[in-house]
Amino acid sequence: MASLSLKHIYKIYPNGFEAVKDFNLEIEDKEFIIFVGPSGCGKSTTLRMIAGLEDISDGEFMIDGKIMNDVEPKDRDIAMVFQNYALYPHMTVRDNMAFGLKLRKTPKHEIKKKVGDASTILDLSELLDRKPVALSGGQRQRVAMGRAIVREPKVFLMDEPLSNLDAKLRVQMRTEISALHQRLGATIIYVTHDQTEAMTLGTRIVVMKDGVIQQVASPRDLYNKPDNLFVAGFIGSPQMNFVNAECRAEGDDVYLDFDKFSIKLPKPKGDALRNGGYIGKEVIMGIRPEKIFESEHAMSVFPEDCKIEVTVNGYELLGSEVLLYFNLLNEKPAEIQRQFTDDAYANVKKVHWTAKVDAATTARYGSTITLALDPNKIHVFDKETEKTIV
Ligand code: ATP
Repeated sequence: MASLSLKHIYKIYPNGFEAVKDFNLEIEDKEFIIFVGPSGCGKSTTLRMIAGLEDISDGEFMIDGKIMNDVEPKDRDIAMVFQNYALYPHMTVRDNMAFGLKLRKTPKHEIKKKVGDASTILDLSELLDRKPVALSGGQRQRVAMGRAIVREPKVFLMDEPLSNLDAKLRVQMRTEISALHQRLGATIIYVTHDQTEAMTLGTRIVVMKDGVIQQVASPRDLYNKPDNLFVAGFIGSPQMNFVNAECRAEGDDVYLDFDKFSIKLPKPKGDALRNGGYIGKEVIMGIRPEKIFESEHAMSVFPEDCKIEVTVNGYELLGSEVLLYFNLLNEKPAEIQRQFTDDAYANVKKVHWTAKVDAATTARYGSTITLALDPNKIHVFDKETEKTIV
């Protein structure tokens, strides 16, 4: 298999648009790399440059130490699986899978063996004589994978290969692709805008925005230690809650003040804010919905200075958990803090927050409840740079 190296890669389209900017990434042999990010962030463009379907405007792309910038797509030893996997409708599954090998004049017995092996791996052996019209979406997708596998490429590129499948099939295929990665021991680069897909499949995830890499990390690190506000908001579902807060010191302790609440930070977080010169300044506080608790147990274990009282304005049962929605003030005008008149409140900008709590909750629309924010799971971001402070 193969290792890939992308150094200072740029893509500038003829109209002058910079779709990819200073992209740097080292991909090791057998890694499952995910490119994730909102629509238009440059995921497909990067993948197409790796495949050779798009010229690299600047920078250096290497496979196993060899510069590939000007190597023809067919000579790159890369196979690509697209979202529109377009099988040949008049050909059987067997012929669809064998087509590329026939073009390459691979000997017949070799084609037979390769198609046989791939169809075993993909559980397609029973379907080899069918035509695409007689296959389910998932089966067609597997044939498309099969076409790539028989070529035994060094690298697989997959561009949203599951996006045309229904929700159930997507989950099934996700598991299959993961197993396939293990079995083939292949280097895979996979593009998606679905963060669940990214989190479950990738050994490392590359988060992109506006053509720029925001962070490269394992799924766990992306979730626990996002580098900036964008990554924090993009990874995780429901997304992380944010609010503008003021950083205040009281003796040795550091607090975040927001809405009418004050949360005491654990010492290491407080010290980081103090040392960074943030006391007296506005920051953005973030906490994931699943790190907000409502249970009696939580009330007894969490200290008082990490609790907030809110009124629920939305309720959604997920099964074993419930999403509770509520609003918080996103600015802290001193007068309103003092008066708390309804009119004054109504005019202040609010943010919508979500708490993911146990389904045993008795809270419903309109309930006023106390919630505990796990202070160790609070993220703090610089308001100007949007970089993570702690
Ligand atoms: P999606 O998830 O929607 O597929 P993406 O992250 O894969 O998005 P790309 O297809 O890589 O995004 O496109 C990146 C940016 O480059 C987009 O803003 C797109 O409009 C622009 N772009 C793509 N092709 C061209 C082109 N031929 N000329 C000019 N701009 C282009």
